[in-house]
Amino acid sequence: MTNNTINIPLCDLALQYNLLKDQIDQAVTGVMASGNYILGNNVALLEKEIAAYLGVDYAVGVASGTDALILALRAYGIGPGDRVIVPAFTMFATVEAVMQAGAMPVFVDVDKDTYCMDIAKIEQCITPDTRAIIPVHLFGRPAPMQSILDIAKEHNLVVIEDNAQGFGAKYFGSYTGAIGHAAALSFFPTKNLGCYGDGGMVLCKDTQIADKVRMLRTHGWKTKYYPELLGYNSRLDELQAAILRVKLPYVDAWNTRRREIADYYEVLLREVIQPSPYIYPAVEHVYHLYVVKLDSKEQREKVMDAMHIAKCACGVYYPIPAHMVQVCWALRALVGYNKDSFPVAKELCDTLLALPMYPELTMDQVEIIAGVVIRALT
Ligand SMILES: *Cc1c(COP(=O)(O)O)cnc(C)c1O
Repeated sequence: MTNNTINIPLCDLALQYNLLKDQIDQAVTGVMASGNYILGNNVALLEKEIAAYLGVDYAVGVASGTDALILALRAYGIGPGDRVIVPAFTMFATVEAVMQAGAMPVFVDVDKDTYCMDIAKIEQCITPDTRAIIPVHLFGRPAPMQSILDIAKEHNLVVIEDNAQGFGAKYFGSYTGAIGHAAALSFFPTKNLGCYGDGGMVLCKDTQIADKVRMLRTHGWKTKYYPELLGYNSRLDELQAAILRVKLPYVDAWNTRRREIADYYEVLLREVIQPSPYIYPAVEHVYHLYVVKLDSKEQREKVMDAMHIAKCACGVYYPIPAHMVQVCWALRALVGYNKDSFPVAKELCDTLLALPMYPELTMDQVEIIAGVVIRALT
């Protein structure tokens, strides 16, 4: 479905651009006129500004969120022969990054209420080859970081937060991304802080890891043309950094607005949708997506049909658990995973549905959408 055939999209990026048009156009023109397009002032300043905002020591701009995960893993020396624990329910890039680094992903089922890694199931997956855990702050809800850090400490594992969907979320007073040893951010356009292309960032607390990521993003060299590591070309560009610098000061207000919209959805849908997943205390969700859980796949079909007829967008995040995708088939045979291995992940793939969510969505539109969902279910 394209934007011209629907009245309410899942996310309206052009609307946000129009609100900030003057500032963004000025930032873009400034970069174009500067003659400096790769690793200039804007990237350096954005790295400082994001580090200060989130409260992390180091921030290194890279080409995407996926690359941020790969470079963080590589900077820790994680690769062939190593295992990395990941949730079975996530955007596949989490898993892909582990495989691209040459390590083996080890899946853990997720919690049925928070959709984040089930902490009760992590320890049984740890072997002598396990090097890291990648918790995902899925849909913008912080994963239970304290328990994950405790487990990691006991087994000497690195914790790399996949914070692609959680920019601005808070966990007991700390921003997600500032809690583990390192973290990955994505600036993909639809993310809570998004640019107008691809972009990402590695966050970390260790100066040596930050140095390594800086080397890896530029062909593995410190001194030009003398690579010391096998690196990549993975840089955030000046245009994207300049755009992100315009947007950063608005993120808190946008996230607050997302929470207001989510609260209103919840009030309106209370009669027909299972109550909102248990939110453990002291976390601030940033609703990258607003996702409802239906009772069955058939019920979800009904709602999707109704939304389609009403010209309101909706989306399935994600249709397949990570261990079932084709690129994991070899792994499945090796480890003995099958379609029933992670029942919660499977159930969420069948029953979750994302409704429109973006800061510029009006409460009238939320009422229209809720009305469609309620009529479909009653
Ligand atoms: C978007 C996303 C990524 C990948 O980020 P890109 O910038 O698109 O490479 C990784 N993990 C999660 C959970 C994501 O949502």
